[in-house]
Amino acid sequence: MTKISTRLGRIAPSPSIAAMSHARGLIAKGRDICDLTAGEPDFDTPKHILQAAAEAMSAGATRYTPPGGTAALKQAIVEKFFRENRLKVRPDEVIVGAGAKQVIFNAMAATLEPGDEVVVVAPYWVSYPDIALYHGAKPVVVETFASDGYRIDPDRLRRALTPRTRWLMLNSPNNPTGTMIDIETMQQIGGVLRDHPSVMVMTDEIYEHIRFTDRAAGSFAAVNPDLADRVLTVNGVSKTYAMTGFRIGYAAGPSDLVAAMAKLQSQNSGNPAAVSQEAARAALTSGLDFLPQWVDAYRARKNLVVQRLSSVPGLSVFEPQGAFYVYVGCSEWIGCAGPSGRVLSDDSAVVMELLDHGVASVQGSAYGVSPAFRLSIASGIDVLAAACDRLADFAGRLKQ
Ligand code: PMP
Ligand code: GLU
Repeated sequence: MTKISTRLGRIAPSPSIAAMSHARGLIAKGRDICDLTAGEPDFDTPKHILQAAAEAMSAGATRYTPPGGTAALKQAIVEKFFRENRLKVRPDEVIVGAGAKQVIFNAMAATLEPGDEVVVVAPYWVSYPDIALYHGAKPVVVETFASDGYRIDPDRLRRALTPRTRWLMLNSPNNPTGTMIDIETMQQIGGVLRDHPSVMVMTDEIYEHIRFTDRAAGSFAAVNPDLADRVLTVNGVSKTYAMTGFRIGYAAGPSDLVAAMAKLQSQNSGNPAAVSQEAARAALTSGLDFLPQWVDAYRARKNLVVQRLSSVPGLSVFEPQGAFYVYVGCSEWIGCAGPSGRVLSDDSAVVMELLDHGVASVQGSAYGVSPAFRLSIASGIDVLAAACDRLADFAGRLKQ
């Protein structure tokens, strides 16, 4: 038996990736499943980006690059942050990694000591607490509630901060609820942080362009410019440009933190893939003309799912303002017997039983708020309509 490190023992495989792999495995075996697990756009990467990647490969983007990203991509990111987020940053304040996930991981690796605390707001993206745990830190959860629009209560946040808090993780629009932090709340969070000068903020803005309202997303460091020197603004090309497989994420923050993260990259990945960096540069410098059509499609799917599931007995559906998920409360289903006779003791049991019924989702416990499940709406409208039919049929077969 290989002795695996205790560090690895502190974390679980990403639940969303586990659910996605499981569903895809069953589909490959011929099972009829509406797969609503994957948090990845079902659209193809825009052609002009693929073209730029192909041309870059032929032109020699096939070699090592500086560990923290090429000068050309960093410049494109500097301009993106100014153009889209009103953030003024220098190239030495920018880092490129193999996905926003690696950027978040490296930021925590570069800063956390065992026993430090990382404040996460539930429902949270599955990886924040586990990455903190991997580094020996303690995730401290600030709860938010559907009844309050999953708004962050500044007083609750204040009570969660201690002298050991290193990071506050923010994510707007949010995975899994799709809620957006409004500007006033961002200002109030800034107010709390002014009393806690050693707390840094990691603001994950990867869904910034996928919004169903006209309200601007608001970037934390732009809303609270006096705090900018302790904010790491994280983003990436995966969601906006449907480039999940290219594995490019990036961030802007204090130059000493960015240098430490680049040092770490020099010892783990070496650098993000050269050709992917060129593809990301093409993406960030060629406009967003393709996007309104995609957002219209996400909106139509969201409207369908919210409307259909609102009439399914026992479910409470939260209407997202952005991202591409619908988070569904299922407390009234807990304790019922499912169509197979299995008792739905928690949301993992609900998700397993739903899978048997042809709908793949992710259990709410992975996001810190139960009982619930997350449906990805990054699937065709026909698949979503079929999934809603199956959910309604499922509800009709539950026994008290
Ligand atoms: N943050 C959030 C909130 C996400 O949903 C994802 C998608 N998995 C990521 C970060 C990481 O994305 P990537 O590593 O593909 O850039
Ligand atoms: N972020 C996506 C999701 O939440 C991809 C899976 C993952 O990285 O965990 O489904």
